Amino acid sequence: MKREVRLQVKSKFVNKYKNSYPLIIKDTIMNPNVLDEEGIVLKLVDEQNQFIAKGYYGKQNKGLGWVLSNNEKEQFDRHFFEKTLKAAFARREHFYKSTDTTAFRVFNGEGDGIGGLTIDYFDGYYVITWYSIGIYQFRDFIIDSLKNLVEYKGIYQKKRFDVSGKYIEEDDFVAGERGEFPIIVKENGVNIAIYLNDSAMVGVFLDQKDVRKKLRDVYSKGKQVLNTFSYTGVFSVFAALGGAAKTTSVDLANRSKSKTIEQFNVNGIAEETQDIIVEDVFKYFKYAVKKGLLFDVVILDPPSFARSKKFTFSAEKDYKNLLKEAISITEDNGIIIASTNASSFGMDKFKGFIDAAFKESNKHYKLMEEFSLPEDFKTNKHYPESDYLKVVFIKKLK
Ligand code: SAH
Repeated sequence: MKREVRLQVKSKFVNKYKNSYPLIIKDTIMNPNVLDEEGIVLKLVDEQNQFIAKGYYGKQNKGLGWVLSNNEKEQFDRHFFEKTLKAAFARREHFYKSTDTTAFRVFNGEGDGIGGLTIDYFDGYYVITWYSIGIYQFRDFIIDSLKNLVEYKGIYQKKRFDVSGKYIEEDDFVAGERGEFPIIVKENGVNIAIYLNDSAMVGVFLDQKDVRKKLRDVYSKGKQVLNTFSYTGVFSVFAALGGAAKTTSVDLANRSKSKTIEQFNVNGIAEETQDIIVEDVFKYFKYAVKKGLLFDVVILDPPSFARSKKFTFSAEKDYKNLLKEAISITEDNGIIIASTNASSFGMDKFKGFIDAAFKESNKHYKLMEEFSLPEDFKTNKHYPESDYLKVVFIKKLK
């Protein structure tokens, strides 16, 4: 059994945890200095030593660990993990039944009851992502539970806590049979090439599935589509399959080009029919303005924070300016798809950036669509920050 440590919550934060806030934050704790080894069980108590909640110690940038239960008697043993995983998988039953979509998230951290842990499904393969050394200490329980609960071809893992590279093994294979990568999964009928043995990036961000579908089904036909921060180009593939006249994908990373060609090819699209450009997006905007290029659809999906040789980008500080650049190369009545996964601000503030960008550009706009995380990315209503994705389709008016 894991060692238990008592953490006393500062009085003004007691109600926060009583109201099921799942993240254990250092500033709310009187005695954080008792924390030593990640993976120990934490018992949160008030000033009278009355039990509030229990969880585990696992350091992430967000906090010291996660609450897992409000029941003092709960043991974090094999049974606990198995029942929690089982409930999460049951909630995805209709996803498992789909033949059209064979990649989705089956366990989403605190949304499914265990912060610091996600599990994704890729056509018979499972990928466990550990976000702290603390949750990794429970790996035997979690991996055994997974093995008991599902049929699988293979299980892989990603150790996101491992910034130093100390835990890096040759690849992250755990059990079952090794895949021959890429494996081809489907998302709403579209093929996506996936690599589970190649760093943290498997080839697609599963949280954008509803956005990609809408782009393909409603906004692509006959359009010139610019996909910025395009990564492996999956937005471009959906646009092309939706009948786009042409897609232009722009990403700074050298390997984005071959990765994007591959995603086009596995869908029977010849790469010569599309533009794939390795360049800084901010440089590309300048080039496009100089050449007088205009697009019908511009997709903006930057990282929350990025540094390139010339620019540093922080979504919170720079999104408005990014939008202004996009506005300047979007046709009248064209669409800007603005997306951010920054958890430091919410939808209202994001819409504020949009409004300010259009005002400063002397343009009017109309909000057409709004997206947050899809259903398989279950969020925790007591922890609004977990609902990080914000996507807005904006029509630029004359
Ligand atoms: N929109 C993508 C995911 C984007 S991930 C999708 O849904 O598939 C962020 C990408 O931004 C990475 O591929 C990274 O290489 C790229 N990137 C970061 N800074 C950049 C910059 N200044 N110019 C171009 N690409 C950049």
